[in-house]
Amino acid sequence: MAWFLVKEYRRKRGTNTWHWCQNCPDWPTEDYDHWLGTGRPQDGPLDQVCAQNEKSNSCVFKTMDDVLKKQKKLPGTGRPVSP
Ligand SMILES: [Zn+2]
Repeated sequence: MAWFLVKEYRRKRGTNTWHWCQNCPDWPTEDYDHWLGTGRPQDGPLDQVCAQNEKSNSCVFKTMDDVLKKQKKLPGTGRPVSP
C-alpha cells in the first residue's frame, strides 16, 4: 500500500457524512469516528464541501505521515493505526 497516499477521514458521531479536508468548516475535531485509507470509506456519503475543495485543489488533508508524526509526539492518544 502506498502509505503516503493514505488519508484520514472523519465523521462526527451521530452523523454518517465523511470529511477529509481539515479546512472544511465541518471538519470534526472532537467526538468523531475516523477511517484511514487510500480509497474512500464505503459506509457513508462523502461531504460535498470536501469534494468541492478537492476539485479546486484547496483541500488540506492529513496523510499517514502526519498521523504517525503526531502519534510519536503524543503517545497513547488516539487509536492505533494499522496500514
Ligand atoms: Zn467536509
